[in-house]
Amino acid sequence: MADRAVEIAIIGAGIAGIAAACYLCVEQKRRSVLLIDSRQPMSYTSAQSGDNYRNWWPHRTMTSFTNDSIDQLDRLARDSGGAFNMTRGGYVLATRQSDVTNIVAAIPGGIDVDVYDDQQAIHSKFPALAADMKNVIHIGRGGDISGQQLGQYMLETIREAGGRKLQGDVRAISSDARYRLEVETSNGRVAVVADVVVNAAGPFVGRIAEMLGVELPVKNLYQQKIAFEDHLKAIPRDMPFSIDLDPKVLDWSEEEHELLAEDPELMWLSEEMPSGTHCRPDGGPHGRWVKLGWAYNDQFSKPQEDMANEPTIDQSFPEIVIRGAAQLIPAMRPYISMPPPRFSHYGGYYTMTEENWPLIGPLDNSGAFVVGALSGFGSMAACAAGKLCATHVCGGPLPDYAMDLSLARLSNADLLTELRASANKGLL
Ligand SMILES: Cc1cc2nc3c(=O)[nH]c(=O)nc-3n(C[C@H](O)[C@H](O)[C@H](O)COP(=O)(O)OP(=O)(O)OC[C@H]3O[C@@H](n4cnc5c(N)ncnc54)[C@H](O)[C@@H]3O)c2cc1C
Repeated sequence: MADRAVEIAIIGAGIAGIAAACYLCVEQKRRSVLLIDSRQPMSYTSAQSGDNYRNWWPHRTMTSFTNDSIDQLDRLARDSGGAFNMTRGGYVLATRQSDVTNIVAAIPGGIDVDVYDDQQAIHSKFPALAADMKNVIHIGRGGDISGQQLGQYMLETIREAGGRKLQGDVRAISSDARYRLEVETSNGRVAVVADVVVNAAGPFVGRIAEMLGVELPVKNLYQQKIAFEDHLKAIPRDMPFSIDLDPKVLDWSEEEHELLAEDPELMWLSEEMPSGTHCRPDGGPHGRWVKLGWAYNDQFSKPQEDMANEPTIDQSFPEIVIRGAAQLIPAMRPYISMPPPRFSHYGGYYTMTEENWPLIGPLDNSGAFVVGALSGFGSMAACAAGKLCATHVCGGPLPDYAMDLSLARLSNADLLTELRASANKGLL
């Protein structure tokens, strides 16, 4: 088969590759952009997203980056006539601590925050929260989107602007004057010749970088969620995305606790678990489903082509997350003894650097770029990440945070030391 020549080949049609293609085609007006993926677009990590967004981060760089992304989401929501159901209920951070001065002081300036420290006010504003919550911090600029519909809208925009897709697995990349990608398709092997390669391969971003002769400092952490029909109506349909800020010991009976504590493999379940249990209604005001998550897994793994083979999948996750969520929303308690009859237990990889900041920019000096390591924030950050990547490729004014979110940060020892030492990396 004849070689296919393009100006820009993007490897990966998850939300990162699609957003990069969109900004290359529409904003940068590139006419020869090819999105290559072995799977259907948006079907790997991007299909697992909780689809929540926020500008609340421990560091102003990530706040600026996500603020830019939310600006883009707001614009796309308007342009598309609300195609991806963007909501703005904010984020609720609830704690039993009576003093949140340090938590509030650590929030970078410019984030719209309300603090409720009166238990009666908390109860009337957020009636589903546990009565022992002493402080609630409400972050205004947050909510959720439908990531799948955003991806479809951008794919349609790319198609109208002349961008194209190719279904196939990139097996090897060589370079001479141009890049040559060997792509395995259902019709056999195809060679794609490109001036520019964008590596947007999600959990496989490290493998593609290796094909380009670059080692990336990224690892993968499998995180899980459950979604189910809330037939008990435990979660009010207008409840914002709500997070428990406190570490907790799960509420087992005395007998259960003893049994767990005696078993070396299950002992961890009887001990203190990290903060971050979260829940929200899913499917709008008239829907009945809810989503629960808790990113407590800290065992890195090698990404599996078929996520069902992931060794860190925890079959007890549904019970654990319901038990955790019941301490935040007591009306969830009955689901512990009577689990929801219909639920979906799913998960995917947080592809991340140690400091939990993304990698966006040149991979080397010869026309290869990366947009990856989007961890648990790729849906919310996709627009700013895609726009930033497209600006790196085509030239143009870069935002202040551009270098710190690129591989250039790896040479900034002071910044890396500060970020890596931080107890709060914004991981949810
Ligand atoms: C459980 C969970 C909950 C999350 N919740 C949120 C949330 O609430 N808010 C938020 O903002 N983010 C969230 N995220 C994060 C977000 O989903 C990811 O950051 C984002 O989807 C990553 O997108 P991506 O395009 O980089 O990767 P992917 O979607 O994985 O896309 C990469 C693509 O590259 C393709 N590919 C890889 N190698 C090759 C190859 N050799 N040849 C061809 N194609 C290749 C793959 O097939 C894949 O389609 C969550 C993630 C998980 C796992």
